[in-house]
Amino acid sequence: MPETREKVAGRRYSRQREEVLRVVRNANSHPTADWVYEQVRKTLPRVSLGTVYRNLNLLADEGLIQRVILDDGVMRYDGKTRAHHHFICSKTGKIYDVEFNLCEDLLEKFNAQTGFKATRYKIEFYGSEE
Ligand SMILES: [Zn+2]
Repeated sequence: MPETREKVAGRRYSRQREEVLRVVRNANSHPTADWVYEQVRKTLPRVSLGTVYRNLNLLADEGLIQRVILDDGVMRYDGKTRAHHHFICSKTGKIYDVEFNLCEDLLEKFNAQTGFKATRYKIEFYGSEE
C-alpha cells in the first residue's frame, strides 16, 4: 500500500523534532535557536528557522527541554531537565550548570512565609569565573 502524503509529512516532522532534540541535548552550552538551527542544518539542510523554533517550543512545552531566559533577555534552551541552577560569568557570558542543593526546604519556607503555593524555583548566580 502506498504511503499517504500525511504519513510522509509526519515522518519528516518527527525527524526534524528528533534532530532538534538531539542537538539541544548534546550541546554543552545553552544554545540559542539560531545556533540550534545552524547545527540542525548540517544533517537536514532544507530545514527552516521557523521549523526549528516551532520544534523548540513544542519540546519545551512537553518538558523535554527547558527554556532559559537570563538577564540579557535572550531565549536559550537547555537539554538538561533535571532541577539545577546556573552560574553566568559576566566576563565571558558562559553559562555553567550548577547542581548544588541550596536549601532543601526552600519551597516550604517560601510558601509558609508568603502564602503562595510555589512548586519550583530557579536561581541564577552572576559573577566572574576567577
Ligand atoms: Zn542548564
